[in-house]
This record gives sequence, C-alpha cells and structure tokens, in this order.
Amino acid sequence: MTPDTHKETLGFQTEVRQLLKLMIHSLYSNKEIFLRELISNASDALDKLRFEALTDDALYQGDSELKIRVSYNKDARTVTISDNGIGMSREEVVAHIGTIAKSGTREFFDKLSGDAARDAHLIGQFGVGFYSAFIVADRVTLTTRRAGLGAEHGVRWESSGEGDYSIETIEQPARGTEVTLHLREGEDEFLDGFRLRAIIRKYSDHINAPILLPAEGKDKTGEETVNRASALWARPKNEISAEEYNEFYKHVAHDFENPLAHLHSRVEGKLEYTLLLYIPAHAPFDLWERDSAHGVKLYVRRVFIMEDNKHLLPRYLRFVRGVMDSNDLPLNVSREILQGSKIIDSIRAAATKRILGQLEDMAANEAEKYATFWKEFGRVLKEGVVEDHANREQIAKLLRFASTHHDAEQQTVSLADYVARMKHGQDKIYYITAENFNAAKYSPHLELLRKKGLEVLLMYEPVDEWVVGHLHEFEGKPLQSAAKGELDLGKFSDKEDEEVRKKAESELKGLVERIRSALGDKVAEVRVSQRLTASPACLVSGAHDLGVHLERLLKASGQTVPGGKPALEINPDHPLIKKLDQEAEDARFEDWAHILYDQALLSEGAHLPDPAAFVRRLNNRLLEIGQ
Ligand code: ADP
Ligand code: MG
Repeated sequence: MTPDTHKETLGFQTEVRQLLKLMIHSLYSNKEIFLRELISNASDALDKLRFEALTDDALYQGDSELKIRVSYNKDARTVTISDNGIGMSREEVVAHIGTIAKSGTREFFDKLSGDAARDAHLIGQFGVGFYSAFIVADRVTLTTRRAGLGAEHGVRWESSGEGDYSIETIEQPARGTEVTLHLREGEDEFLDGFRLRAIIRKYSDHINAPILLPAEGKDKTGEETVNRASALWARPKNEISAEEYNEFYKHVAHDFENPLAHLHSRVEGKLEYTLLLYIPAHAPFDLWERDSAHGVKLYVRRVFIMEDNKHLLPRYLRFVRGVMDSNDLPLNVSREILQGSKIIDSIRAAATKRILGQLEDMAANEAEKYATFWKEFGRVLKEGVVEDHANREQIAKLLRFASTHHDAEQQTVSLADYVARMKHGQDKIYYITAENFNAAKYSPHLELLRKKGLEVLLMYEPVDEWVVGHLHEFEGKPLQSAAKGELDLGKFSDKEDEEVRKKAESELKGLVERIRSALGDKVAEVRVSQRLTASPACLVSGAHDLGVHLERLLKASGQTVPGGKPALEINPDHPLIKKLDQEAEDARFEDWAHILYDQALLSEGAHLPDPAAFVRRLNNRLLEIGQ
C-alpha cells in the first residue's frame, strides 16, 4: 500500500474546527439549508464537468445525462445527495473538504467574537457550504471519484464533525460525488419525501440540472424530477418570483443572505447575451483580497465556462455577483481569449453602464438601501473614479461624503447636494482629506471656511486622496483642498480681511523671519494665515504638492515620496503668536517655533518625526509657568 491509498485520520485545520462548532449553533434555526448547500455544490460539480468535457468528451464515459439525486433511508436514518459531476481526487478532498482554502480565512476567524448571534451573521457571510451538513448530521460520509481517473481512485471521506476525519482510497466505479448524512437524534423530519421535495422546490428550483427523488405514493416507482431544471436567467422576467431570484443569488454567490438588488436583462441585436447580476447586501470577507476567486460566472449558451473577477467587470465592481450568458462566444473560450475579446469588452461596457444606472436609481428612489450599499461598497466604488475614465461623471454622482453640513459622521452628502447648497457667489467645492473623521472635522484649515459658513466635504478614507487626484471638478465646479495653497475664497474674501492681513503681514515681518530661521529646512515658507481663527498655526502644502496626508499614506505603503515641503501659516490674532513676537530670548523662541510646528502636525493626525524632542520642549516651557 502506498501512503497515498491507505486509510488515515487527519485533523481538520483549526479554522474548520472552529467553524463547525459555531455553525451548528448559529445556523440551527434554519437547518434545512444544508440541502440547498449540498445541491448547490453538486450543481457546481456538474457545471465543471460539462466545461471540462467540452475539450475532452471521453470524460463523460457514455454518461452525459448530468443529474443530482436526493434519497433517504428510514431504517438507516440517512439522507443522501449524489451527482455525476466532476468529482474529487484524494488531494482535492483534503484540500477542499479538510481545509478552507480561501484567502483571508485566518483574518476572518480573528474577527469572530464568540457571541453566537453576532457570529451567525458573519458565518453566513463566510459561506460555510459543505459543512452545513453537520447541522443535522453527526456523521457525514462522502465518496467521490474524479472524472478521468480510474475506478481504483475513488475516495471515501468520513467525519463526525468534531476534530478529525478519515480518508481512504477505494474502488469507485462511477465518477461523481455522493454525500450521506447520518442524521442526529431528533432530525427524523428529513426522512420524508414530501418534506425533502418542499425544501428543494423552495431553495433549489432554479438549479440548472434535474434533481431526482424517488417517486412517492403506493403505485409509483422510479424517480421523478422535482425542480424545473432550466436556467433561471433564460426565463422571462415576469415568470420569476422574488424568492427565486434570491435563492439563485445564494447559489451563485455562495452567500447566505438575500441580495440588495438584482438586474436582469436580455440583449438581442448584434450581440446576444443575458445578464443576471446582483448587488450583495454585505461585503464578502475577502473584498480586499486581490486574488479572491469569486466574481461573475460566465456561461456560453447555458454552459458554464468560468468564474472571473477581472475581465467580465471592472475591478471597482468586483462585489457584483451573478451570471453573464453569451450566445456569441465560442465554447472553448479561455481566460487568455477573455482578455482580448471584443465581445467581452462590449458586454462588460454594457453591464457596467447598467449597474451604474441601477445604483443611480437606487440612490434616487431607495435612500436606505443606497445607504447600506454605500456603507458596504462605497470605498470600492470610489476606485472607479480613478479607474474608469469613460464613466467618471456617472460614478461621481454616486459618491457620498461626510461634510461640515452635518454634525455627526455620516457619509450621505452627494456632490450634487453640495452644489445645490453652495452659497451665492461660491464657485468651488471645498474638501479636506485627513486621517479620520475627527481629524478632518476639527482641522484648523477649516476655521475660516466655517466662519464664512462655507460647507466642506470631509474625506478620511485612504482612497479619497486618489479620488480627488482624478476628480478635478463636478458640474463645472472645481474641487479645492482647504489644506493646500492659498485659500482662495473668491467673493467671500472680503476687502477688510485682506487689509487686516496685509497689515499683520507687515507688522509680523520680523516674527515670520525669525520662525523661518528657527525651523530651518522643515518648512518651505512661513506666512501670515488667513484661514485660521482659533488655532495658532497650521501646515499648508503647495497647490500642486501631494499634501501632508497623501505623503503619509505613500510613506506607509513603502514608497519614496518626492518631498515638497509645507508652509507654516500663523494666526496673527492668536495670543501665543503675539506672545512669541515679544520673546527676546533665542533658545526659548526656538522651542516655541518648533512646538508650533509640531502641534500643527499633530492637529492633522500625523505622527511627529521626533516626539521626544516635542515633549522636552513642551516641558521646558511648562516648567516656566508660575516661575
Ligand atoms: P463553496 O461551494 O463556496 O466553494 P463548499 O464548502 O460548499 O464551498 O464546498 C467546498 C469545495 O468542496 C467546493 O468548492 C468544491 O471544490 C468541493 N466540493 C464540494 N462538494 C462537491 C461535489 N459534490 N463535487 C465536487 N466537488 C465538491
Ligand atoms: Mg458550496
């Protein structure tokens, strides 16, 4: 016996063990879904076989009628789900059933709180699939044979869903997979043909392949098909119920919850294709994994070809799930062909337009839904501003920001809302980018804008820097950073202010020069500010510089940053500045100048390059109090 064929007992990956325990508790209230999950896997296995057989017809071995069977045995107290699909090799069983080979799994498990109610939601998000069998079974036996391998390559896997599983190589004449559930005490309700039928109709009617059950009733023999067994997306819209759309979503997206919205359209003309696309209600746990396997499923004339998250839709729509079925592509389409395909290009462009249109409708008519969408996927959609030149304007309309218009942190303000609220004579859209909401909201850069009653968009997500880097205007109104360059308030900078500043400038000329030489090459310039009303100082980047915040982001991601130095602006009315002007002693003056600079950095949420020096200087000055 080679080590590969003997019976061995292997431990589940730690995550699987955790998952099994949690799942049994948290999904128990909806335990019948185990059948949906196992049928969904069987259906995927049929799809994969059909695809592989396109290039290798021999895989069918004379049995090309692909089907799923569900049966039960009252005496043995078992329910069995079998398919004649692709099957699994021994290695595949270990890889797919003994481990969770999804990227980001560990991070996901670190997030679980141990609170069953909260985690139930997360577990659904993770998609537990096969393991849901253990909700109703205390022993699960799986036998399988990979299509294309000989009969001696069958595999038998068994587990009671606790710490480990056994696996052995067996003789298995037919390809495909059979999963037998040995029901737990008290789960006999599933040993009933009518009950099983009802569950299949409820959750799995949309499955493409026939699902067979032993015929019920006295005189009946043989099997009968219990589902409709036709591609859901190929049916007319008005014949599909909301439930059917939802259940189909759970199957294609491997999700446990209903989607937020769907769009279904058939296009006929030069190209013929059908789209059935969904926007999920929550972000999948691996939304930020570059190589996440899930995406949209491509079919060619009802035959599943592949799932893909790079070619069928732009990256910034990678949260969309569903099906694209083309009548024009060749059946042997490969990933390489996808890349340069004119047909795929035009389907992708049309699908993108439709999804954006759908989101626009949702934003206009279903505000609450749109808020959910934005919370889950807003950060991804924002990438579209950078990525998708052609649709930039449409995407810009979909953006939502926090703003000084609201007190609380809520990303609800659209650029159109902002423009509609612009004051008479205001010609710019003001924004600020910062580390977090509070750093943005309380930034000293906003003081004058606040005083003038001008609204400012508060941006504090890393992607925002790229958004404003690519979105220069909206409806003809330029976007203007409140933290860069001269703050041009247009009509709102009244003459008086300007005169006051001019006066302060000439009065403080000496002070400005002294601070400048104290700070040396830390700053490009020191100048009298017009944007401050309450804070003593702030740092301002050049109009075309990256900005303090973006510089920090780039540095954090390990990039070298072309160092444009900021200007230090001082508030001539602030008591500290006035006091500083009186300071005769050089050492003390120098401390103050550096403290001013450092606190300007701190107020932006930045880290100080030399925090110890800041503390020392501050303490020097504190010690003088009351002396
Ligand atoms: P998912 O379906 O989301 O990938 P599951 O836990 O449901 O997760 O299934 C895990 C994996 O096990 C599947 O991706 C597939 O590779 C394999 N698998 C499960 N059931 C079958 C089956 N009936 N035939 C072939 N492979 C299967
Ligand atoms: Mg599954």
